Amino acid sequence: MAKGIVIIGGGLSGLTLAFLLQKKGSEAIIIEASDRLGGRIQTVTGALGAPLELGATWFSEAHINLLELINELGLTKYPQHSEGISLFQTKSFEPPQQFFVPGAEFPSYRIAGGTQMLISALAQKLNPHNIHLNKEVTGIQQTDNNLILTTADGDSFDASSAIICIPPQLAAAKIQFSPGLPAPMAQVLPTVQTWMAGALKFTLEYDEPFWRNKGYSGMLYSHAGIVTEMYDHTNFSADKYGFTGFLNSGATAYSPELRKELVLQQLSELLGPKIMNPSAYFDKVWNDSFVMEGNPVILRPHQNNGHPVFSDSYMNDRLHFCGTETAAAFPGYMEGAIVAAKAVVASSFR
Ligand SMILES: Cc1cc2nc3c(=O)[nH]c(=O)nc-3n(C[C@H](O)[C@H](O)[C@H](O)COP(=O)(O)OP(=O)(O)OC[C@H]3O[C@@H](n4cnc5c(N)ncnc54)[C@H](O)[C@@H]3O)c2cc1C
Repeated sequence: MAKGIVIIGGGLSGLTLAFLLQKKGSEAIIIEASDRLGGRIQTVTGALGAPLELGATWFSEAHINLLELINELGLTKYPQHSEGISLFQTKSFEPPQQFFVPGAEFPSYRIAGGTQMLISALAQKLNPHNIHLNKEVTGIQQTDNNLILTTADGDSFDASSAIICIPPQLAAAKIQFSPGLPAPMAQVLPTVQTWMAGALKFTLEYDEPFWRNKGYSGMLYSHAGIVTEMYDHTNFSADKYGFTGFLNSGATAYSPELRKELVLQQLSELLGPKIMNPSAYFDKVWNDSFVMEGNPVILRPHQNNGHPVFSDSYMNDRLHFCGTETAAAFPGYMEGAIVAAKAVVASSFR
């Protein structure tokens, strides 16, 4: 099949890389294992039409490369609502602590219409024939003058260069490199922490902001219930409402129905009975085979992120590593995904 530049992974880093290469006059093929683009960015739509985030949601003024891309793609950012009474549940048998937040001086931002807008706007810039979904890369073989990529469904792609835009830990577990990667890289790859791997995020949609009407910000931190952290999730035009946040890791073992029941029970005790009737509830455990594999050797968050091995190229300068975990700045975040894509272009595709 095709011969040229092949990008492995259709998340933010892979799509940004394809977009940057296209601006330089080079078309790249994207091979994506799942049935959708976006990777750790996943916006779902509530019954009332609110964009609800199961993955990446917030960014800040410090994320200058992301802000630049948002601008270039014609997207709109808006501040995360935080003003009002916030709650801190220290123990299940004590009333929550209340504290008033006057609104953040340096707010986090969200993308109007949902973070997925970034992905769809990038995809629209690319030739759809170059995007291959449902193709998991399982092998990269170096030959005399190119690379041969094989996929789980038995397909193969010839590549003049390949760029791995998937979490490094996953690359180590899933891709057979032939010849094997040099020892320093082979040793580092399985020990690179994948940001948010294993996280459990939930989101709720409502037709009215009953908590805001009572002076609450929608922010909750809890050591007592299934919800550990929660934020107001009102949409950009402020006509659809909801929450998003994180559940404790033990809840991975529960069924989605039980998780929903426990979330609503905890929140109804804090914010009142209207909580019990959301127009939508979604949650997602980020532990599937598109994010992580096996039992990685991880001791700390961001471990080995941005490691120097990622700035080298391999297999006769034909193989490069991208993906947010390889970034020299803000690894793990959306900003890191863009920093990584820019670094690969600057070092290898000028
Ligand atoms: C719950 C959660 C909350 C987050 N919150 C934030 C936030 O608020 N702010 C922020 O900045 N960041 C946040 N992040 C992190 C952010 O989502 C990531 O930094 C960013 O999306 C990573 O992009 P990426 O392209 O590097 O990797 P990914 O998004 O992981 O993309 C990799 C792609 O490769 C595909 N793939 C995997 N294996 C293969 C294979 N063998 N062959 C082909 N394709 C393959 C995957 O399916 C995926 O589409 C969050 C992440 C999660 C999960």
